[in-house]
Amino acid sequence: MIRLDDGRTIPSILYYHRVAPDVPRPVGVTPEEFRSQMLFLRSNGMRGITLDEGLKNTGSSKKSCILTFDDGYLDNFEHAVPILEDLGFRATIFCVSDRLGTLTDWSDDSLWKGIPLMAKEEVRELAARGFEIGSHTRTHCDLGRLSATDPLQARREIFDSRTELEDVLGSPVTSFCYPYGGWTETAVQWVREAGYLQARSVHHARWGKTYDLFSLPCRPVSGKMPFWRFAWYVRLWNLGL
Ligand SMILES: [Zn+2]
Repeated sequence: MIRLDDGRTIPSILYYHRVAPDVPRPVGVTPEEFRSQMLFLRSNGMRGITLDEGLKNTGSSKKSCILTFDDGYLDNFEHAVPILEDLGFRATIFCVSDRLGTLTDWSDDSLWKGIPLMAKEEVRELAARGFEIGSHTRTHCDLGRLSATDPLQARREIFDSRTELEDVLGSPVTSFCYPYGGWTETAVQWVREAGYLQARSVHHARWGKTYDLFSLPCRPVSGKMPFWRFAWYVRLWNLGL
């Protein structure tokens, strides 16, 4: 569980990128691995929920796990969503608003470059099916760096990505996620001002530490995480740790 500064607790947050057959280990898990992980959650009496839902129902933190996916990969729609829906789970997917329907272009690393992203139609359909669409900026910029070099542009990445996604969805976008986990105090302030209600970073939750709603910690899951370690985290959370 995650303890907030205001004394409330919310469910722990898992953080995924891709879910696809033959996916390179550092960037994701296979559908089979993903299914095993989700089944393990269910066999421990836990349900996968969106970040928005996790913040609203703070009373049942041990019985839920917040599932988040970064970047909005098309393979999430094709492979992860059917598994989640089979189990009655939902998740939050953080999309890069100016890159919907294109290929990833923010990294030169062949592991991350040229990967298909969901288009407006898929994003809209997922929202209609109970998934939450959150913002991951307009172009997947590093807000830690950009806030210092070009503050106006950084602010636009935060504000305009919300507007652009809301135009696609026709409903409010309330969750934000910092690409690369990069942020500054000013960037956090803009995230609040833009109207988001919560934001996830990439740092791990620490015992005994409390967190602000705009720098929520998480546990990243890739193909490099052995199943026993995934199971270990889930058991700890299930005990209320
Ligand atoms: Zn990202």
